[in-house]
Amino acid sequence: MPFSPEQLIRPEILALAAYQVPDARGMVKLDAMENPYDLPEALKREVVRLVSSVALNRYPDPTAAELRQVIRKTMSVPSDAEILLGNGSDEIIQLIMLALNAPRTTVLAPEPSFVMYSMIASSCGLRYVGVPLKPDFMLDGDAMLSAIAREKPAAVFISFPNNPTGNLFDDATVEALIQAAEGLVVIDEAYHAFAGASFMSRLPRYPNLLVVRTLSKLGLAGLRLGFVAGSPRWLSQLDKVRLPYNVNVLTQRIAARLLLHGKTLEEQARRIVAERGFLFDALTALPGVSALRSDANFILFRVGNASRVFETLKARRILVKNLHGSHPMLANCLRVTVGTPDENTAFIDAMKAGL
Ligand SMILES: *Cc1c(COP(=O)(O)O)cnc(C)c1O
Repeated sequence: MPFSPEQLIRPEILALAAYQVPDARGMVKLDAMENPYDLPEALKREVVRLVSSVALNRYPDPTAAELRQVIRKTMSVPSDAEILLGNGSDEIIQLIMLALNAPRTTVLAPEPSFVMYSMIASSCGLRYVGVPLKPDFMLDGDAMLSAIAREKPAAVFISFPNNPTGNLFDDATVEALIQAAEGLVVIDEAYHAFAGASFMSRLPRYPNLLVVRTLSKLGLAGLRLGFVAGSPRWLSQLDKVRLPYNVNVLTQRIAARLLLHGKTLEEQARRIVAERGFLFDALTALPGVSALRSDANFILFRVGNASRVFETLKARRILVKNLHGSHPMLANCLRVTVGTPDENTAFIDAMKAGL
């Protein structure tokens, strides 16, 4: 008799629920923090030209030297820091966790935060410890410091701004954690483009600090490109875990071009930030809705009955994220991505009908 999956698959994998992505065909898609704007026609033609010039029969440059150079320049990476690219920053998080192991097998993160931290920890055989945020969703510095002292984590993951709450944690509190931790502190700056705050320039000061970024929320989610910046001592080790051709030729070429002429994406990020203000005001003006101020491209809000509002929105072809049931602190919470002005108006109209 051949073995069953239950006999061969690790128990922590059997216990995992697969990451769910809902079918969004025909929907106004406000659930995944994508940039809603298309590229201008001239840039698109440029992309077509690049694609036709790429040798698809050849492996990509395994070190992606040109793209790494462009990222260094456009993302203000300190000159003595190294960078390593990933197929999205999810892969970077996985690389870090794959490389960590005994004798320190714990990773720690505040909660609620990005669900992939605990999922990837489980799939890498690491122990995950979540430390609750304060009721206002700010970082609980004392609780974090005592958890770090008690658990001695190999790595602490901080989403800055935090997903799914959208807020930036207090800068000095985060810095105190970096100073206190003996393990790595990974600052995940997926929403950097909308936040105006970063730990990137502090890399030279803290040898145990890593800064992770992605191009996904900036407008290139389909390309799949993320990176980590940090001390070469750490990155040379992580690089051994990275599969040699993890960033494909099309991504290398197109991302380098779009970043070098990054005005378009930055301009779109500014429009999203302005639109976030209107969306926040419109949401908080609705009866029975409370929203949290956001430094990202989405807004967390609470209603009387999240599942009912979610279904009403869905019936009107508007897809948001229902967070009810994902964490006790997120009871009756929904998360909406900032869309185009038209999409946001459609969302607010549907909310009015649904409440
Ligand atoms: C979206 C997101 C990521 C993953 O982004 P990809 O680069 O698309 O894999 C990582 N961290 C946080 C906090 C996110 O919200």
